[in-house]
Amino acid sequence: MARSYTVRTYGCQMNVHDSERMAGLLESAGYVRAAADTHADVVVFNTCAVRENADNKLYGNLSHLAPVKREHPDMQIAVGGCLAQKDRSEIVRKAPWVDVVFGTHNVHALPVLLERARHNEEAQVEILDSLEVFPSTLPARRESAYAGWVSISVGCNNTCTFCIVPALRGKEKDRRPGDILAEVQALAADGVLEVTLLGQNVNAYGADFGDRGAFADLLRACGSVEGLERVRFTSPHPRDFTSDVIAAMAETPNVCPQLHMPLQSGSDDVLRRMRRSYRSSRFLSIIDEVRASLPDAAITTDIIVGFPGETEEDFQATLDVVSAAKFASAFTFQYSPRPGTPAATLPDQLPKAVVQERYMRLVALQEQISWDANRMLEGTVVEVLVAAGEGKKDSATHRLSGRARDGRLVHFAPGTAEIRPGDVVEVAIGYGAPHHLVADGPVLRHRRTRAGDAHDRPTPTATGLGLPSFGAPAPLAPTTGCGA
Ligand code: SF4
Repeated sequence: MARSYTVRTYGCQMNVHDSERMAGLLESAGYVRAAADTHADVVVFNTCAVRENADNKLYGNLSHLAPVKREHPDMQIAVGGCLAQKDRSEIVRKAPWVDVVFGTHNVHALPVLLERARHNEEAQVEILDSLEVFPSTLPARRESAYAGWVSISVGCNNTCTFCIVPALRGKEKDRRPGDILAEVQALAADGVLEVTLLGQNVNAYGADFGDRGAFADLLRACGSVEGLERVRFTSPHPRDFTSDVIAAMAETPNVCPQLHMPLQSGSDDVLRRMRRSYRSSRFLSIIDEVRASLPDAAITTDIIVGFPGETEEDFQATLDVVSAAKFASAFTFQYSPRPGTPAATLPDQLPKAVVQERYMRLVALQEQISWDANRMLEGTVVEVLVAAGEGKKDSATHRLSGRARDGRLVHFAPGTAEIRPGDVVEVAIGYGAPHHLVADGPVLRHRRTRAGDAHDRPTPTATGLGLPSFGAPAPLAPTTGCGA
């Protein structure tokens, strides 16, 4: 009987996509996904090193599995992702019941390492320092029939002082445009309606093969992929944001009117200490340029509060930029030192209470701005791609949910229509809340899609070992790790 597996994902969208690759690799090697609420013969942890206490959480989860493993010695545990890249054989030293540790550059080795660990009856630790196989050339087990991630690059050439990503993911490596487009076309041919181009710094794309205009060209090329209705990308770095990317966004109808661009701080002094090479005036000028070309674009951001040495004046500069930029929403983070990053050893680390108080002020300001912007949408008609998970019927209100073209979350009343995740509807917004839009009127238009049909089809799973559960994974960070 085929061995079953489960992959537990922590961290950013990059990790979510890597987990799809891990699942695809395991299925190609004959493993079957463990059915929900059952337990797997192979448990893979795809870890994150960005979140605070990530290591404590991992070792906590591994401890829960120790007695399970004693009872079922045939079960295997593998640890991959950024924390594995960072801690390496330390993981097997602290949790000797782990069978496999693999890094961010050798995801492809997972099935072989599992097999070798079983055969040799000893833990296998394999960490490469640079990429050999671009992860997107590996098979994937896509989680969604209507939306897909497509990696365009991995790694990052920047050295932001708060960020562990360059140390763990290495220098930027760009995938060839032809390979990316082939994957996008294959997804669209399968009925996928929305693609998100993924990289640590997407608009640096092309630096690796000497073409600075490559990202704009890629957006335009996505515009001619048949059946592809929505193109998104994350995350761009303000330093590399060029006018040709804005022009490509405006001229390519299936590129969504949405931009997620990390600000991190509105203070030029703090940006300097973060080693972010743009300044607040440059950031705001990009936003002006985007709004001139795409007036309805929803612009979102990441902001870190309480970076070492941040003064009240610095923080006020952040509030000023937030007021001027009028972000649709912001992912706000309280700074905390991450081991292995240059900022962790900077002087003038701020007391937690100061950071918390500033954070609350920032959240209150942003919430008001988001709410004002959402109220402006009352009465407008939006197209919603109905989501799975988010799209589950709320038992109290009977609403479904999905995302508008600009990325806003919309809850709507489906009436009596049978609307599936992956279908597309048009609804009139009745109420704009701070974090979502509500449409309780009739659905104005409902388009059944192949992605919706696919959602109704069951996917193969196996019954696992019947082992006890060990808790849900942490919530996912919104971006590719920048700023988290
Ligand atoms: S924050 Fe983003 S741009 Fe900066 S080093 Fe990290 S991954 Fe690169």
